[in-house]
Amino acid sequence: MNATAYIALGANLGDRRDTFVRAVRKLTAEHAATWRASSSLYETSAVGGPAGQPDYLNAVVSIATRLPPHDLLDALLQIERLHGRRRDVRHGPRTLDLDLLLYDDCVIADDRLQVPHPRAHLRSFVLAPLVEIAPKLVHPRLGLTVTQLLARLENAEHLRPCAGPEWIADATLSTQHSALST
Ligand code: ADP
Ligand code: MG
Repeated sequence: MNATAYIALGANLGDRRDTFVRAVRKLTAEHAATWRASSSLYETSAVGGPAGQPDYLNAVVSIATRLPPHDLLDALLQIERLHGRRRDVRHGPRTLDLDLLLYDDCVIADDRLQVPHPRAHLRSFVLAPLVEIAPKLVHPRLGLTVTQLLARLENAEHLRPCAGPEWIADATLSTQHSALST
């Protein structure tokens, strides 16, 4: 049976939009996942970490998947690595960050994986795109919808919408032509 998972994408190095397209293409082509919906693309200033970092591009996609949650996390970490993700500076610049936000209404807390993502409900650059694609989605630990959680945020980061949800078309189209390399 398929589960529905919501994944946050973030990047502030390289061709960020192209990285997102390749990441979704890889996930859907090779990891037993089907794309369902995508948010617009948003730009935000980097929070925390070294000063003077480039701005982030953020988005959220939903997928249907047969992968159990930990296998999905492994797939996401593998795709991050393919895009040259390094983890030497906390909150440092990154070519690609893929966070598993929600997996059906599962609540998981072990050494490797926390679902819902422990900081998702605190970040407008996660909640705003999530509200766009699933406004009535309920956070299974807090019992509030993502719309209510976004309204609750006091110090929301300033989001700049910079492209509509059609950015994903490149990725979904390509999965129908799996001969395309990534
Ligand atoms: P962050 O995204 O918070 O900046 P990282 O991307 O460096 O941090 O993730 C560090 C670790 O967080 C990963 O190796 C992974 O095992 C763990 N992790 C726990 N829960 C999740 C989740 N829901 N999504 C992604 N990674 C998670
Ligand atoms: Mg991460």
